[in-house]
Amino acid sequence: MGEGKGSLDLEKDVLNEGLCTSCGACVNICPYIKVVTDRVAVIEPCGIAEGKCYDFCPRTPTDISALNRTVCGGEPSETSLGSYISIEMAQARDSEIRRRAQYGGVVSAIMTYAINSGEIGSAVLTRPFDRGLMPTSALAEPGPQVLESAGSNYLASATLAELNNATKQPREAIGVVGIPCQILALRKMQTSQHETGAKAVKLAVGLFCTWALSYKGFREFLSGRLGTTAITRLDIPPPPANVLVVHTGNGVVEFPLDEIRGYIKPTCSVCFDMTSELADISVGMVEGLEDWNTLIVRTPLGEQLVARAKAEGVIETQSLDEARLAHLREASLNKKRRAIEEIVRRTGDESDLLYMRLSETDRRNLF
Ligand SMILES: Cc1cc2nc3c(=O)[nH]c(=O)nc-3n(C[C@H](O)[C@H](O)[C@H](O)COP(=O)(O)OP(=O)(O)OC[C@H]3O[C@@H](n4cnc5c(N)ncnc54)[C@H](O)[C@@H]3O)c2cc1C
Ligand code: SF4
Ligand code: SF4
Repeated sequence: MGEGKGSLDLEKDVLNEGLCTSCGACVNICPYIKVVTDRVAVIEPCGIAEGKCYDFCPRTPTDISALNRTVCGGEPSETSLGSYISIEMAQARDSEIRRRAQYGGVVSAIMTYAINSGEIGSAVLTRPFDRGLMPTSALAEPGPQVLESAGSNYLASATLAELNNATKQPREAIGVVGIPCQILALRKMQTSQHETGAKAVKLAVGLFCTWALSYKGFREFLSGRLGTTAITRLDIPPPPANVLVVHTGNGVVEFPLDEIRGYIKPTCSVCFDMTSELADISVGMVEGLEDWNTLIVRTPLGEQLVARAKAEGVIETQSLDEARLAHLREASLNKKRRAIEEIVRRTGDESDLLYMRLSETDRRNLF
C-alpha cells in the first residue's frame, strides 16, 4: 500500500518532478487523471487521501526487494539481472512471425501460443498509430491480433491505461506485454490492497529497455526530416552502430543517436531496471543476431509456458554464449549504477533514493 497519499501528491512527487514514465497505471481508474499521447495530467484534485494512483505508480516509494520476493519467490539470483530460472537465446519457429517481429519474434509467438492454448484469455499489447509513430494499446483476443502488434515502438506508451479500461468488465487470465516500468507498476497493482482489474493478470511478459522517447519532441524532429511519410519500423541496433533506423514507405533513413537523445524521457535516467526483473519472462535482443532474442525465464509460470512452447515447436532455444551474457550483465548493472548516481545527484542525499527502497546489502552489491 502507498503511504496514504492521493492524486495531489502524485502530481507533486511524480508529475511535476519529471518522473512520470507514462505507464498508464493511474489512468482510467478515476475521472480525474487523463493521458493525451504520452502526457499524463491530474485534471482535477479529488481529495482522496489514499489513492490507487499513488499506490500503483512505479515512481512512488517501492520496496523493490519485497516485490521481488513476492513475484519470484526469493532473493534475486544476482544483482545485475534479478531473479531467473534460465537465460537462453530463442526464436519463433514460424518464419512469418519472425518476418513481422522486431527480432526473433519470441514475444509474439509466446503470446499467440498462450492465447491459443487457453493459458490466457486475452492480452494487453501495444501497437503503433499516427503514421506508425505513437504507440497505442489494445486488448488482443483469440485470432490474429497479436501479430498486428509485432515490432518495437521506442516511444513511451500508457499501456496500463488499456488494462484498466479492459478490466472494467470482469475478465480472467489476462496477459500483458510491457517495458520494465510498466511491469513494475503492474506488480504494484497486483500486490496492492486496493481493488484493481490487474489482479486478473496471469502472465507478464517484460521487454528489455534502456530508454524510451517522448512523443512531442520526437514527432516534431521526425516531421521536420521526413514530412508525412508513413513509418513502418523503428530499430536501434546494438553498439557500435549508435543510430536509430527508421523504415518508411520511401526507404530507410538512419539518424545518429546523439540527434535524438534530447527526446529521451527524463525519468529514464533514474530507471533501475533494464531487463524487466519482475516479469514471468523477459525478452530482449541478442547482440549481432537479429533473428534471435535473449529469453530470461523468471517464474515457475514462465518456465512451464516456455517448456510447453518449446515442446510444441512454437519456439526454439539455444544456449547464450558467455561473452554475450557477460555483456548483458554489464549493461544492466551499468544502468542501475547510473540510476543511483543520478538519483543521489538530484536529491543530494545518499539515503534518499526517491522511489526506491533498497536494502543496504542490495545497494552495496551494485558498486
Ligand atoms: C521502448 C523500448 C525500448 C527497448 N529497449 C531495448 C534495449 O535497450 N535492449 C534490448 O535488448 N531490447 C530492447 N527493447 C525490446 C526489443 O525492442 C524487443 O521488443 C524485444 O527484443 C522482443 O522482440 P520480439 O522479436 O520478440 O518482439 P515482437 O514479437 O515483435 O513483439 C514486440 C512486442 O512489443 C510490444 N511493444 C512495442 N512497442 C511497445 C511500447 N512502446 N511499450 C510497450 N510494449 C511495446 C508489442 O506489444 C509487441 O507485443 C525495447 C523495446 C521497447 C518498446
Ligand atoms: S502511474 Fe504511471 S502514468 Fe501515472 S504518474 Fe505514475 S508513472 Fe506516470
Ligand atoms: S528506461 Fe525505464 S522508465 Fe524509461 S521507458 Fe524504459 S523502463 Fe520505462
